[in-house]
Amino acid sequence: MLWLELTKDPRHGGLGWEFGKCLWSPTLKKNGGQWPYWSSLVSVKEGDCVIHLKKETHDWYFAGYSIALADGFTTSERPPEPRENGFAIEFNRVDLKDYQPFPNPIPLKSVFQEKDQQLREYFQTNKAKRKNIRKNLFYDEIEIYDRLQCHNGAYLTEVDEQLASILFGVDFSGRINDGKLPIIDAKTGEILRTLKTRIGQKEFSDNVRNNYNHTCCFPDCVVSDDKFLVGAHIIRWTDSPEFRGNISNGLCLCLMHDKAFEIGLFSLDDNFRIVATNAMPANEWFTFNIRPYIGKQIRLGARTPLLEALKHHRVRHKIVT
Ligand SMILES: [Zn+2]
Repeated sequence: MLWLELTKDPRHGGLGWEFGKCLWSPTLKKNGGQWPYWSSLVSVKEGDCVIHLKKETHDWYFAGYSIALADGFTTSERPPEPRENGFAIEFNRVDLKDYQPFPNPIPLKSVFQEKDQQLREYFQTNKAKRKNIRKNLFYDEIEIYDRLQCHNGAYLTEVDEQLASILFGVDFSGRINDGKLPIIDAKTGEILRTLKTRIGQKEFSDNVRNNYNHTCCFPDCVVSDDKFLVGAHIIRWTDSPEFRGNISNGLCLCLMHDKAFEIGLFSLDDNFRIVATNAMPANEWFTFNIRPYIGKQIRLGARTPLLEALKHHRVRHKIVT
């Protein structure tokens, strides 16, 4: 998922709570009420991407992006410089990693100007939706001035594919979209494309793990903790753009079985049974972990692996069934 942080305090909470290191907010408003732009923090999942929209002097800029290190959580630890949020007893927090600044930050003013019509249409469509499915947007349509501006009090909002595509001219679903914004230069465009790929891979991994009910599909393997599971590609990401994002090109495997599959120690036949490399290693690991399972079927999800992809994997690793 892609999120957008709006921040104007350069101290961002102070030591340990700095910009690009974390997202944070009070859990509740001063009057005890919920504030959706704050509650959103606990919906952030490990691996999600966050774009940072920063106010410097008078203008807002898309400054860069980072990745959520872990799921969002609630804590009674306090930022050393909470400023106007000092009233709060508890805080929501998301730890971030890999902050990557855009070489040339994108001015929000220019995006609002260039994409005015599309952003207004998106805004109106969203506004017409039922309350429970309506998104909290980071911007408002100010009717009296007839212009778009940042929503007062917005902090963290979700950016769906459509909105990301309007804002940055890149399609975050993993498909290629050549429509770029003239105001985004080549270097920043390149970073946005990397981000797009990351989001596509995360989404693929989530879908594949869901398909296998978050359990390694290798016969009798009991690993079911998401920290040790991957949504592995059968045909590698780099080898085949047309299979990208296709759940049937994925297997949910634990880290150990993923590695063994990746290096071709085993593959699957057309009945989804384990077939081993023809050059079976004589080592203990292989003898205990792969050999006894030859001929056994993997646990299948609702979407079964593509036979074409399995064939591709076997051919690549010279495994003959
Ligand atoms: Zn496993």
